[in-house]
Order: sequence, then C-alpha cells, then structure tokens
Amino acid sequence: MTLKNKFTGPAKIKTVICRCLIFCLFFPAFSDTSAAEKKPLILATNTIIADMAAQLSGDLAEVKSLVPIGTDPHNFEPSPADIKLAGSANLILMNGMNLENWMYELLRKTIGITKIDTVTQGIAPIFSGEYATVVDPHAWLDPVLGKIYVKNIATSLSELMPEHSEIIQFNSKVLTEELQHIHEYSVEKLGSIPPEQRILITSHDAFRYFSQRYQMEVKSVFPTSPSAELTIKDMADLSEIISESGVRAIFPESTINPRLIAQIARDNGLILGGKLYTDSLSEPDGEAGNYIGLLYHNIREIYYGLIGEKSTSSMEHRQSSDEQSQFFPLILVSLVLLGSFLIMWKGVNHNL
Ligand SMILES: [Zn+2]
Repeated sequence: MTLKNKFTGPAKIKTVICRCLIFCLFFPAFSDTSAAEKKPLILATNTIIADMAAQLSGDLAEVKSLVPIGTDPHNFEPSPADIKLAGSANLILMNGMNLENWMYELLRKTIGITKIDTVTQGIAPIFSGEYATVVDPHAWLDPVLGKIYVKNIATSLSELMPEHSEIIQFNSKVLTEELQHIHEYSVEKLGSIPPEQRILITSHDAFRYFSQRYQMEVKSVFPTSPSAELTIKDMADLSEIISESGVRAIFPESTINPRLIAQIARDNGLILGGKLYTDSLSEPDGEAGNYIGLLYHNIREIYYGLIGEKSTSSMEHRQSSDEQSQFFPLILVSLVLLGSFLIMWKGVNHNL
C-alpha cells in the first residue's frame, strides 16, 4: 500500500517526469486553473512534524517548517520573515512539551493566525533526568508515539480540508502501518543486544521516550537542551557510567557540534557511533530525508554502535543514491524531447 497523493523512490521520479511533461504540454490551459486553486499553507515548527504533515496531505497542501533543516529547534529565533509567514499560514502545527518556547514571542508579534494545534495531545510527558521540572519534548523518536502524532496531525488536516478527509485518513493508515513495522524492527534489533549493553549516550537528552519503549538506559552529555550548562558533576557521572557499564559507543547528533562527543569518545576509548538525527531531518536526499527514514537510520546506527560494529546505513544510502542517479539520463532525454516539441509547436503556430 502506498500513500495517496505522495510518491516515493524511483517511482516518484518517473511520475515527476510524466507530470512535468503533461504540465508543460498543457501549460497555457493549465496555468489559469492552478492560479485559481490555491493550496492551504501548513506551517510546522520543525522539519519532522512538517514531514508527517506532508506525508499525510500529499499534494493537497503546501507544507513548510519554521525551523530549517539542521537547525536546533530548542533555541530558534524567528526572523521577521518567519513572523510574516506565520501570519499567512492556514494552520500551525507545534510539538509543545517545552520544545518551542520561542513560539510565545512569535505569536505575540504575529497578526492573523487562524489555527494552532499541538500534535502531542494524548502523550504522557516524561520528565528529563534529574531536572524534574523539565519535560523531554522528543516523543517523535518513539515510533509507537509517532502513531499518536500521525493521528493528531491527520485530525488537524481533516478539519482544515474536510473535502479531502478520506485521502488524509487513508494516508494516516499507511503511515501508521509503517510506524508499526519500524517498532517491530526496533524490538527485534535492540532486543538482541544484551541488556547490560543497552546504554545510549548522546549529545543531548532526546531519547527518554525511545529508551523507555525499548528498555534502554539513557545518558546525555547535555542533560536538558544543547545550550544547557555542562557541570563537572555531569562529566564525572558520565565517565563513571562509561567505565562501570562497559558501553562501547557514544553518538553525536546532527544539530549539535560533535566536538565534545568526539573528545569523550577518545578520552574513554569508545567508538564514535554514527550521527543520529534527533531534532531535524537531513536534506531530502540524505540519510534521514523523511521521518520514516530518520527512525530507521537512528535504530540502525544505535544497534551497530552498541554491538561494536560499523553500520551499513551509509552504504545503503549510497546505493539508494545510485539507483536514483540512473533516472537522470531519462530526465535529460525527456527535456530534450520536450524542447524539440515546443520548437516544432512554435514553428507550426508561426506558419499558420
Ligand atoms: Zn532536542
């Protein structure tokens, strides 16, 4: 089963080529129609929520993320352009749970916001380590809780576009099934690691929900957010856990400078695990270009790091890029044919 109004992989490239051709061939007639049908603008506060909304709405809406790819969403500072964009959105989707404290300032300055929905409704918050008043906002890293995100976002989108509710709910079902597959994959992979080795050490405290789901101990270099102050006690606690547990790897994250993590790995003789994507997707053609890809990537890296082996995910990603590159000649040929057709069409019109 595939998502409606959404194309993936090589099939997507073929479809895009066909669509380009159809669009270009019928451009004069098509342009008037497209101008009349303005899609609603959905704004998400980070790239992960934006991807879920895009997966569910397909071509029915325009979806954007306020926080760009690779940027820390905890300490984001909205620009005047972001405030203007928020004012033109038909719907804003936010995580809540202490992630977007910068939203208060944005909302204070924005005029004309129509609807804001929190996509973590129904998720029981987990408090972050020894900081009992700080909620961990990263519930999306648990695929089971990801299903609640999908359900909430599908409800919001259906309220915004009731005429497309059937398609949205269908896509919601497909995405939910994919999340169930990822959960089963996680249970199989992470469950095969001896319990005493299931210790996940990362840059910041993002894996509370994930680790609770898969019975892992979690420890972070930065206990709350990447900007939190690092104390001597934090470092001493970390060294103690490393030396007592026999943990094999420590993991950097995509939105945080990996220098300190690399230093800890060197000082303690640990494997520097693969980069994890916690707060942002990668670029679309990268190793975590969508939410599902992000979850698979993280689980693979965690698994191979903790068993002391090198992940194959980068190789798989290279292979995937190679598969896509085989369609580039097809795109080129299509463009040449299209150009030839347009020249001929112009010539015929000129002679009439
Ligand atoms: Zn975070």
